[in-house]
Amino acid sequence: MTLESSQLNELHWLMEMLHNIDVGLVVLDKDYKVQIFNGFMENHSGYLPREVKGKVLFDLFDEIPQEWFKRKAESVFLLKNKAFTIWEQRPYLFKFNSYRPITGSANYMYQNTTFIPLLSTTGEVSHLCLLVYDMTDNAMHKMSLEAANEELGVLSQTDGLTGLFNRTHWENCLQTEYKRWTRSQNPSSLVMLDIDHFKAVNDNHGHMVGDEVIRHISALIRSHVRETDTSGRYGGEEFTILLADTSAENAFVFAERLRKEVEAAVVKYNDIELNYTISLGVAEVDSSIKNYEAWIESADAALYHAKENGRNKVSIYKSD
Ligand code: GH3
Ligand code: MG
Ligand code: MG
Repeated sequence: MTLESSQLNELHWLMEMLHNIDVGLVVLDKDYKVQIFNGFMENHSGYLPREVKGKVLFDLFDEIPQEWFKRKAESVFLLKNKAFTIWEQRPYLFKFNSYRPITGSANYMYQNTTFIPLLSTTGEVSHLCLLVYDMTDNAMHKMSLEAANEELGVLSQTDGLTGLFNRTHWENCLQTEYKRWTRSQNPSSLVMLDIDHFKAVNDNHGHMVGDEVIRHISALIRSHVRETDTSGRYGGEEFTILLADTSAENAFVFAERLRKEVEAAVVKYNDIELNYTISLGVAEVDSSIKNYEAWIESADAALYHAKENGRNKVSIYKSD
């Protein structure tokens, strides 16, 4: 074999390999006309190389945003530097279907793209090469991990029985609200409530019925609060509701409405039907309350007062 023919052979192999690698390869001239289009591109687009040769990229693939692409490509021509796009920023350049069985949930192929300047013998950049990588597996893994993490985050914030915020998370929210109040001084009220004679519910009907009552009050709380309010399960059958932008007077109206609804409700469990009541304490934050813990104590003091006053009542905390 002569040197020339062995070099020719290598070139041929190289072409063969580039045609068959699992990466998209497109060469464009300065007018964005396609010069080379490899097997990967052919398989995913359905176009044969001879069909696309000499055609303008944007006429073939109208999903490619022209302005953006040209800006990117022009900097490659001008600066003779590589450029990149990643799927996290732009899911794809070419809208190809995703065929992979394990990534069945992806509607299209996620792609990373590299733009490479191709130098002519005179040192000019007359063409550019696009390398298109299929990132679908990577994207699916990352997205399912993110979804799982988000779910874990929510779970660690919520109480299993009621779906309300748990004490730790709810206290964090209260702390944030207290800090916000020190800056804004907008009124903000805390409502604390406790089920009356709950021990008797458990003793007379069993814990399952007790749990049903807890679920009942939780659902009622959830249906009464606004998006900006934060409600949590503070302890066994004690609950807290933080009413942002609400004065003690308005929080009292809210608490009274909740109290009356509970009083009128009937909880059903199998063939058991029972009524229950709640007592509530309201504390609006003011300058006498020095931290969020003191705010909780104030609402708790008001709640204690409501219990002392005969239960099934709402009390407002007075700083004096
Ligand atoms: P009071 O009117 O003074 O509040 O009387 P009470 O009987 O409700 O007294 P207290 O608030 O101290 O009662 C708490 C009881 O709640 C004790 C406990 O057995 C019960 N409890 C706490 N958590 C749960 C729970 O998750 N499920 C059930 N079924 N019972 C619970
Ligand atoms: Mg109780
Ligand atoms: Mg209690």
